[in-house]
Amino acid sequence: MEPTIEKKPTGLDNKSDDGKKSSDKQQNGRDKQNKATIKTVNPATNEVVKSFEEMTGQEIESAISGADKTYQDWKKTSYEQRADILHKVASLMRKEKSTLAKLITFEMGKLLKESEGEIDLSANIIDYYADNGAKFLADQTLKTEFGEAIVHHSPIGVLLGVEPWNFPFYQVARFAAPNIMIGNVVLVKHASNVPQCGIAIEKLFKEAGAPDGVYTNLLIPGHKVDVLLADKRIKGASLTGSEKSGARLAEAAGKNLKKSVLELGGSDAFIVLEDADMDKTVEWAVVGRMNNTGQCCVASKRFIVVEAVADEFLKKFKEKLSALKVGDPMDEDTQLGPLSSEAAAAHLDDQVKRSVASGAKILLGGKRIDRKGAYMEATILTDILPNVPAYYEELFGPVASFYRVKDEAAAIELANDSPYGLGGSVFTNDIERGKKVADQIDTGMVFINHPTWTKEDLPFGGTKRSGYGRELAELGIQEFVNKKLIRVSGLSDPF
Ligand code: NAP
Repeated sequence: MEPTIEKKPTGLDNKSDDGKKSSDKQQNGRDKQNKATIKTVNPATNEVVKSFEEMTGQEIESAISGADKTYQDWKKTSYEQRADILHKVASLMRKEKSTLAKLITFEMGKLLKESEGEIDLSANIIDYYADNGAKFLADQTLKTEFGEAIVHHSPIGVLLGVEPWNFPFYQVARFAAPNIMIGNVVLVKHASNVPQCGIAIEKLFKEAGAPDGVYTNLLIPGHKVDVLLADKRIKGASLTGSEKSGARLAEAAGKNLKKSVLELGGSDAFIVLEDADMDKTVEWAVVGRMNNTGQCCVASKRFIVVEAVADEFLKKFKEKLSALKVGDPMDEDTQLGPLSSEAAAAHLDDQVKRSVASGAKILLGGKRIDRKGAYMEATILTDILPNVPAYYEELFGPVASFYRVKDEAAAIELANDSPYGLGGSVFTNDIERGKKVADQIDTGMVFINHPTWTKEDLPFGGTKRSGYGRELAELGIQEFVNKKLIRVSGLSDPF
């Protein structure tokens, strides 16, 4: 297929700040070195389908000033008005589920049924904040010695969300919905390999009646994000992505004294104790590792199994992974699709090669799949010592790291020997034992008898190098609000 280039990003006002037509200025201002890094490349074939010119400085300025202008009115709207628009977005998403899901699969290669699940989850998140936002943000009355003390929640302004490609709708939903409900407005810079998803989300907000500037899609590459934090109209930023990008954003936010939330990588432990139900545990191990072709921040990445059941687990796990049917992610019966891009597959392949060169062994797979597209075999690595890259690095794809340990204490110690602290799982028939183990794992989330997963009413986030702050549930709506104290004292009350 012949690639096309989109000259004008959908939904952008063609006027500059001063209201004049700005196409000439845009062309003059456009980066002559524009290498069209923003593009749809179908990872099932590696064909470039469509490229997008990144926004010019003038267009970015227009997006920020438009958002800031809209904020002045949006902050005065009622929770009911905001909820009404969010419900419409969710309902449009469900109505267009089939088309939107295909777009996700087309741009980043996720199995089509998983893309459909992502649309449902995203719509649920948006409805959840529309239904519960007002309750979460209600005034809190404090007990105080005299007079009155109230904590009132108010919006803070224009926010920047920097989002990854692995869940192109879900990641945006969990940032945009709570913030729009608060009365903030959002600029969303989506990953450069899912531009059409980014444009489609902006379109949903417009169709739902959101005033221009409430939700704005920024078509810019990642390296142009940090300068935006210097703009005084942008009051805070949230990034989901790699440690490297997170550190860049946090540095810029810190320099400009702005709040940031970071949702970064993970290398979740999947601990199996001797009393676990082995068949069900192995089924969840496959889901935990292979969902989204292994490209979840909270994928189960390190399988830590106590000696007593290690052989049984490994045998069953290998059988199930080797039976997965490889194919086109659009086909209903495909179980293992491509990674998100050729670069992602090449990086994972390199991590496996470096790990093997440092002493790890391959029990299953270990190679790229010999077909067009960004495919990698389902792989199990064993004999992973701390000098092996797989021990500390995040493996973002269908590669499982297997560790055999003596007992529960050794499992906890190994689980905590990671730079990351995102999620984790413990499999045991003894729930109280599972809770005690969970308490000793240094992560933001631990699931008992389930891989770490997400839902609108469960807080999500990590510790250590997995970032800070929380998204989803009530905690997720408390990050970018001004918790303002309003104090009423009698004129004769003490100082
Ligand atoms: P990435 O390269 O960091 O990309 C994420 C976003 O950051 C993209 O929009 C990217 O834009 C942007 N970006 C790139 N360079 C930047 C910079 N210097 N400053 C600011 N933003 C920049 O991450 P990825 O490799 O695509 O995503 C996978 C990572 O995200 C994994 O580590 C995964 O575990 C993590 N993740 C974490 C969570 C969580 O909730 N904790 C959820 C999902 C994923 P461009 O695309 O234009 O480069």
